[in-house]
Amino acid sequence: MKFENLLADRTENMRSNAIREILKVVSQPGMISLAGGIPAQESFPMNIMNTLAESVTAQYGAAAFQYDMTEGFMPLREALSAYVKARGISATAEEIIVTSGSQGVLDALGKVLISKGDRIAVEAPTYLGAISAFNPYEPEYVRMDTDDDGLIPESLEAVLRAGGVKFVYLVPTFQNPTGRTLPLERRQEIARILEKYDALLVEDDPYSALRYRGTALPPVKIFAPDHVVYVSTLSKVFAPGLRVGFCVAPELIRKWLVLVKQGTDLHTSTFNQALAAEYLSGGHLDHHLPDICKLYRPRQEAMLDALEKYFPDGFKWSAPEGGMFLWVEGPKGMDMEPVYWEAVARKAAFVPGKFFYTDVREGIETMRLNYTMADAATIDRAVRILGEVVAESA
Ligand code: PMP
Repeated sequence: MKFENLLADRTENMRSNAIREILKVVSQPGMISLAGGIPAQESFPMNIMNTLAESVTAQYGAAAFQYDMTEGFMPLREALSAYVKARGISATAEEIIVTSGSQGVLDALGKVLISKGDRIAVEAPTYLGAISAFNPYEPEYVRMDTDDDGLIPESLEAVLRAGGVKFVYLVPTFQNPTGRTLPLERRQEIARILEKYDALLVEDDPYSALRYRGTALPPVKIFAPDHVVYVSTLSKVFAPGLRVGFCVAPELIRKWLVLVKQGTDLHTSTFNQALAAEYLSGGHLDHHLPDICKLYRPRQEAMLDALEKYFPDGFKWSAPEGGMFLWVEGPKGMDMEPVYWEAVARKAAFVPGKFFYTDVREGIETMRLNYTMADAATIDRAVRILGEVVAESA
C-alpha cells in the first residue's frame, strides 16, 4: 500500500520537527542536557501520592474510574476556581474547563478558531508546542517584536491595526523559551490594545507559580476579561504525566471548546482529575510549592553564576525571577547550531534558540538553557563546557 497517498493535505504539509531531529543525540550516555523543558522528577510530591490516591478511592469509589463530564470533574473545577482566584481571576467552577494538559486547550482552540490561512500573532521567539498545536489547522503566523521585557505593546498594536488577526498567543510570565516576563504596565497596555481592536488573546501561563524572587504579577486576563482565554496547567506544580490543564474562557468560546473536546477525548482522565482535586483542596499544593521553588532556585543561581564565570565578553543572558529557562544571546551573527554540535561532542546539550522562531533565520545567535533537570554541580560543569565552546567559536 502506498501510504503517502492516504495522507490528508494538512498532514503532507507538516514538516518533521527540526528540533526533534537535532535533539535525538541528547539521550546518549554521559550527556548533560540543558536542552529539556520538563520538571525535575524530584519535584513531584511522591510522599503524598499514595495518600491522595487512597483518599480518591475512599471518597469517590468507582465513580473516579467512570466516564465523566467533558467540561471536567466538578470537585477539581471547584478547586481550580479557588486556585485562579488567588491570581486575581474570578471564575466560577462552571466557567473552568479541564483539559488533557494545557496542550489540550491549545489544540482545542486551534480546532475551534483557525481556518486555513488565518493569521495568528505570536511573539518572536515563541513556545514551539503552541505552533505544533496550531499547525494542523494551517494558519499563517504574524510575528511580533519582543525585548528583554517580552512583547513590545507597539508591535502588538501595529499587527492588530493592520487587521485580519484571528487571535494573539502570548506567554506573559517566565516565557518559554526566553524566561522573560511582561511588567505590569505592559500587561495593562496590552489589555487596552486588545479592547481597542476587539481582539482575542490566548494567555498561556504554565510557569507563574514557579517564582523564586520578586512579587507576583496579575495575569493580562484580569485587565480585559472578555478578550482573554486564560490557559494554565498543573504540570509544573504537581506532575505533568497526569496531564491536567485547564482554561478560563469567555462563554461563547467555552461552548465550542466543550464540543470539540467531546470529539477529541470525551474528557480528561477522571482519576487524574480527582487526584488533582485532592492535591489542591487538601492544601497540599500550598505546602509543596515552596519545596519545588527551593529545589529550582539554587539551580537557577548556579547557572547564572556559571555563565558569569565561564562565558566570554559579548554574551548576555536573562535573569528571570522564576520559571525554568535562561536565554543567552551571543555576538550578532554567531550561529549556535555548530556550537550545539561541538558542545554535544563534549557531552553538554542545549537548544539553539533559532528553533523557537517561526522564521528560523532569526535568532541564530541565541540559546535556551534549562536549569530544572540537573543539580547545581552538574549545571556548573555543563555551562563550563558551553563557555569553552562559545569562546572557541567567537
Ligand atoms: N505552554 C507552555 C508555554 C509550555 O512551556 C508547556 C510545557 N512545556 C505547555 C504549554 C504544555 O504543558 P502541559 O500540556 O503539560 O500542561
